[in-house]
Amino acid sequence: MPEAEKVIIIGGASAGLTAGIYTSRAKLEPLLFTGEMYGGQLMMTSEVENFPGFPEGIQGPELMERMLRQAERFGTRILYEKVEKVDFSSKPFRVFATSGEYLAHSVIIATGARPRMLGLESEKALLGHGVSYCAVCDGAFYRDMEVCVVGGGDSAMEEALHLTHHASRVKVIHRRDQLRASKIMQERAFENPKIEFIWDSVVEEVLDVSQKKVTGVLVRNVKTGEKTEIKCDGLFIAIGHEPNTEIFKGQIELDEMGYIKVRDHVKTSVEGVFAAGDVHDHKYRQAITASAFGCMAALEAERYLSEKGIT
Ligand code: NAP
Repeated sequence: MPEAEKVIIIGGASAGLTAGIYTSRAKLEPLLFTGEMYGGQLMMTSEVENFPGFPEGIQGPELMERMLRQAERFGTRILYEKVEKVDFSSKPFRVFATSGEYLAHSVIIATGARPRMLGLESEKALLGHGVSYCAVCDGAFYRDMEVCVVGGGDSAMEEALHLTHHASRVKVIHRRDQLRASKIMQERAFENPKIEFIWDSVVEEVLDVSQKKVTGVLVRNVKTGEKTEIKCDGLFIAIGHEPNTEIFKGQIELDEMGYIKVRDHVKTSVEGVFAAGDVHDHKYRQAITASAFGCMAALEAERYLSEKGIT
C-alpha cells in the first residue's frame, strides 16, 4: 500500500491548479491529477480579457500554462492521468488512477464541467464531421464557409464572434427571442454584420448523416411549429455545461443536476473532501471564481489537516 498523501487534487484547470499553488506553498506536497489534459475549458478559449492582472488580455492556454508552472514551482507533483474511481467510505480516502491506487488524508475535487450536447443522434453521428463544441479549436476549418451556432448565452456569442474571423456567415440559432448573454457580448454580436439571428428555433436534426458531413440543420420554430432547413457547413453547439461528477456518484452528495453540493463554499458531504470550481459552481463559472474556490478549498484542507494533526 502506498503511504497516504496529505492532499490529492483531482483536476488540473483554474480551480485545481490554484489549489495546487496554495497547498504547495503551505508545504502539503500536493499530488495533482490533471485528467487527460490539463487546463480544462480555458484551453479551448482564445483571448481572456477579464482575468485581473492582464490588462492587454491573455490567451487561455497561456494562462493555464502559467498557473501550472506556478503550482510546480512550489512543489505540486503533477500526474497527467485520469482518476477513474474514488472510495471516500473510509479514511484515508482511496483514489484509483490510471497508474494505480493512491491514498489521501484529504481530497480537493476540481474536475470542472464539460459542454452540454443537444442529444440528437445526428449530432453524435456528425461529431468531428462538422459538429463542434469549440470554435477556437475548429473555426479555422470553415474559412469563407457558412456556419451555425446554437445557444443564446455568452459562450454562444463568443463562439459566433470568433467564427466571424473565418466563416463568411454565422447564423445563431436560439430557442427564445431574447439572448441570455451579457449586454456587452450581445452588442458585439448585434453589431457584427456577419452574424444573423434565427430566433425561437430549435435544431431538430443535423444534416446530412448519409453524406457523413454537415450540410445544414433542420430547425423548428417553437412558436409556429414551422420547420425550415438552414444551409451550413459547420455546426457549433454552445448551450451550457454538465459537471464532471460521474465518479463521485454514491460517494458524496450531488444536487439534482449532478453538481457537487457544498456548504461553507467548498465543503462536501464528506469531511476532508472539498470541491472547487465549476464542478459545484454553476452560477459564476469564471476562471477567476474557479481559482477563488481553489484557494478556499486549499485553505480549508490545510485547516482540516492541521486539526487532525496531519502535518
Ligand atoms: P448559459 O449562460 O447557461 O447559456 C446557455 C444557452 O444555451 C442559453 O441561451 C440557453 O437557452 C441555451 N440552451 C440550453 N440548453 C439548450 C438546449 N437543449 N437547446 C437549445 N438551447 C439550449 O451557458 P454559457 O453561455 O456556456 O455561459 C455559462 C457561464 O459562463 C455564464 O455565466 C456566462 O456569463 C459565462 N461566460 C462568460 C464569458 C465571457 O465573459 N466572455 C464567455 C463564456 C461564458 P435559454 O437562454 O433559453 O436558457
